[in-house]
Amino acid sequence: MGGVLQVDGVGQIYQAANGEIEAIKEISFEVEKGEFISVVGPSGCGKSTLLSIISGLYTPTVGSVYINGSKVCGISRETGYMLQNDNLLEWRSVLKNVYLGLEIRRMLTPEYKNYAKELLKNYGLYDFKDKYPSQLSGGMRQRAALIRTLAVRPEILLLDEAFSALDYQTRISLTDDVYKILKREKKTVVMVTHDISEAISMSDRVIVLTKRPACVKSIHNVSFPDNEDFPLQRRNNPDFRRYFNKIWGELDVHV
Ligand code: ADP
Ligand code: MG
Repeated sequence: MGGVLQVDGVGQIYQAANGEIEAIKEISFEVEKGEFISVVGPSGCGKSTLLSIISGLYTPTVGSVYINGSKVCGISRETGYMLQNDNLLEWRSVLKNVYLGLEIRRMLTPEYKNYAKELLKNYGLYDFKDKYPSQLSGGMRQRAALIRTLAVRPEILLLDEAFSALDYQTRISLTDDVYKILKREKKTVVMVTHDISEAISMSDRVIVLTKRPACVKSIHNVSFPDNEDFPLQRRNNPDFRRYFNKIWGELDVHV
């Protein structure tokens, strides 16, 4: 007990036209403040469902989610959500896109506006604030989407396959950028991905889910020396392979 996030016996059954679909069986875990957790599992096992439940978008069929000890009921202000698609609005400038979350939450105050501009400055997008999304590269678009998510100051960041749509090179360098931003902003992160390498390169712990209905198969602590702790450096460390092989062997993707 005492983590910033507790997922407590969460299960989800969808009512579909052809009957019930059990997406999640019974998932429990805790996340400490400032921790970076990845959840990996085969495609269709229920990862996005789990994140939607943590965000408060869906109410689970059984179980509960607690943030700082309070039960999540409905969309929570403490979480920010980032998806594979950056969802930037093409007709709005980068700055106006970054303000969007603040507008929706009626938080467009001078203080929050300044914080948003600070983020743009710190993370190399301030010179592009008056440009439109179509004028940015894929990696810059995702960084803009991240800054928009951070602008409302969520305590916990939820990333759902946030890098999968990008080409390999962009993905590798963006994960390095994003990792540094999230550490510097001291965010707690739950990232869902089917990419084991991505999970190992960024996380303190990796939670492996079974195939649908998902339950927790195993949890792995991941640690690298302090001076080799960025995603790119981790990928070059000999231990990286070791973690990869261990987790790969547990993933139910083998036919
Ligand atoms: P993942 O993100 O791991 O690929 P999802 O959480 O998206 O998995 O989906 C898990 C299962 O639940 C899939 O079989 C999917 O078809 C089903 N599912 C997801 N959302 C819904 C929904 N809104 N209604 C009915 N079935 C759904
Ligand atoms: Mg998904």
